[in-house]
Amino acid sequence: MIPQHKSALLISDLHLTPSMPLTAQRFFDFCEKEAPHVEAVFILGDLFEYWLGDDAASHSPFLREVKNALANLSTKTKTYYMHGNRDFLVGPSFIKKTGLTLLPDPSLADIAGQQYLLAHGDALCTADLGYQAFRQWTRKPWLQKLFLCLPLTWRRSIANQLRSNSHAQYERHVKSLSAQQQSKTDVTQEACAAILHSHECNLLIHGHTHLPGHHHEQRDALAWQRWVLSDWDLDRPTGTHPRANALLINAQGVQALNLVKN
Ligand code: MN
Repeated sequence: MIPQHKSALLISDLHLTPSMPLTAQRFFDFCEKEAPHVEAVFILGDLFEYWLGDDAASHSPFLREVKNALANLSTKTKTYYMHGNRDFLVGPSFIKKTGLTLLPDPSLADIAGQQYLLAHGDALCTADLGYQAFRQWTRKPWLQKLFLCLPLTWRRSIANQLRSNSHAQYERHVKSLSAQQQSKTDVTQEACAAILHSHECNLLIHGHTHLPGHHHEQRDALAWQRWVLSDWDLDRPTGTHPRANALLINAQGVQALNLVKN
């Protein structure tokens, strides 16, 4: 069934981790301050920097705090969550304990009488063939099951290895690659057109790329609007602006909120 609400706030890519306490605090404040004013909150993936399994969450005071904030939030506002590429191992036990409603990626939602297609966004970056191959592997249920059976210390070291590889790759992209190559890590119009066409929708909202914006796009006979959520970073503002935005959707339409200033 398609979720249907009169108003909603959408966020993604908070990358919550104990080493970014200001970002986490903004999320806790968001749960208390902004979220209760709307009917629904949609978290479009990468709420966490990484996820080693629901069992690991119960050993971490930080993750227990996030779990309590989510559980409290979901009693006040209907809260939907979609997996991202970093937290796709968030499992049924955590979902149940927090009262979240898990949405498949992508999913349609009816907000204030308009249908929006919601996605994390990584599956739309189809020009990045290396990433898509990696994504296919990591989404294999048997491989996930195997990973979750490993001792926690092993899982942690595998995750650290993957994160440092992906961070190094990202740095290389930013520093030295041409604009054309950098666009590899953005969504492609082909992929957007294909999922919008198959869902008979022309309004797309996603995160993942960390390139917040609102675009009017067209491919062949299909025209659509695409909103991109920002990542959140209030802890490492050096060299870049602190970032935290949300999209508010109500009868007035779609509005980007800057949560850094509020
Ligand atoms: Mn992502």
